[in-house]
Amino acid sequence: MFTVDLEEWFQVERLSGVISMKDWENYEMRSQRNTEQLLTLFRESGTKATFFVLGWVAERVPDLILRIKEEGHEIACHGYSHQILFQVSRDEFERDLVKAKRIIEDMTGDSLQGYRAPSFSIVEYVPEVLHRNGFTYDSSLYPISVRGRYGSVNAESIGGRSSICRFGNGLLEVPVGTLKLLGCEFPWGGGGYFRLYPYPVFEKGLQKVRRDKLGFTFYIHPWELDPEQPRVKGLRAKDRLMHYASLSTTIEKVGRLLTSFKFVSVTEGLKRMGLA
Ligand SMILES: [Zn+2]
Repeated sequence: MFTVDLEEWFQVERLSGVISMKDWENYEMRSQRNTEQLLTLFRESGTKATFFVLGWVAERVPDLILRIKEEGHEIACHGYSHQILFQVSRDEFERDLVKAKRIIEDMTGDSLQGYRAPSFSIVEYVPEVLHRNGFTYDSSLYPISVRGRYGSVNAESIGGRSSICRFGNGLLEVPVGTLKLLGCEFPWGGGGYFRLYPYPVFEKGLQKVRRDKLGFTFYIHPWELDPEQPRVKGLRAKDRLMHYASLSTTIEKVGRLLTSFKFVSVTEGLKRMGLA
């Protein structure tokens, strides 16, 4: 399953120490042109993807959201203001979720099925709140061995070779892809690691994942295809590396990935696994 977290380059958690939400209006929006590049790659390869759209962005580029939908991709929810869930209360999370849901659903006329938490910061109450608000799946779990600042939550594997899990209330969990090697789960689901690994290494790992597991999920952000994006000063060295590494080669790598493997949207993937 191919997923895109549709947000702006200045909304990334790694930059939040330098750029706060009240300043977002002062920066140039670039997601539109970067998303166009992705849409072109999807058309050329016959790929349908899932876009986890940030409500703040949807409000400002409604035409883009409608075009993504018209081209046959799935629209899903990434919240409104990209708040990291470890830093907000349950009520604040729900208010932010409902705000984004209303904006996006009013725009597309479809009810949203899927949600992804900013920076994979899932916490225990998320499945219940999503279920209560009509969502059918979450894709916020990135179950790598060295979890760092990613969240974790209890979900039962549905069994077999499937990577998909289910919560007690029936909501499905569609985790981001990992590669199991030497007893460890390595981050193999996209983003910064995809930019850092040489493409042949990534592809070899993905071939192993395909043999081992069903339901691999890949993610990318439009800003990861944008080497021209403004450079922010004052970042920590690791954040600078992870945000700016290999931006100029990402588009070519995504193109190769879409040629070598067949991807579908999350809802289509779940359907094919008999889960939606
Ligand atoms: Zn995000």
